[in-house]
Amino acid sequence: MSAYRDQFTRCPSCAGELVAARSTLVCPGCQGAWVGDQVLTEMIWEMHDGAETLPPAWSQRAPGPARACPVCKTALDPVWLEGVPLDRCRAGHGVWLDADELAQTLHNASRRPPRSVGVKVDLRPIQAERESDRRDRLHGWLLETVNALDRR
Ligand SMILES: [Zn+2]
Ligand SMILES: [Zn+2]
Repeated sequence: MSAYRDQFTRCPSCAGELVAARSTLVCPGCQGAWVGDQVLTEMIWEMHDGAETLPPAWSQRAPGPARACPVCKTALDPVWLEGVPLDRCRAGHGVWLDADELAQTLHNASRRPPRSVGVKVDLRPIQAERESDRRDRLHGWLLETVNALDRR
């Protein structure tokens, strides 16, 4: 079997072809999204304006429908994040979020106190150059997501 046979990245949910949308891949068919661990972490931290410093609090959940990582094709790990059932690649390739799960995850994250090591770390000096770009990217992406949900 050739590794190059399928040159497109396939949706883990409906097997449609994923398309690039900013720093994520989205499925036009089912409107799910494939998001890198780091991008998702940054989005969640963004909900707390840099006051959150700990990695996302993943926890295990019972397996649902079998889904495979679009990158390495191994079974995704069923996990909870912010009370939302997600599927995550154990090798760190990313996280699968169904249609409204990204908005729900970020909404839930914004409703709880920030998780941090106890000292508020001001990320702004480190990210000064990228801050406006990052915000544009996040807000633009969320807007696209919300618009896409509205069109359903
Ligand atoms: Zn899909
Ligand atoms: Zn993978």
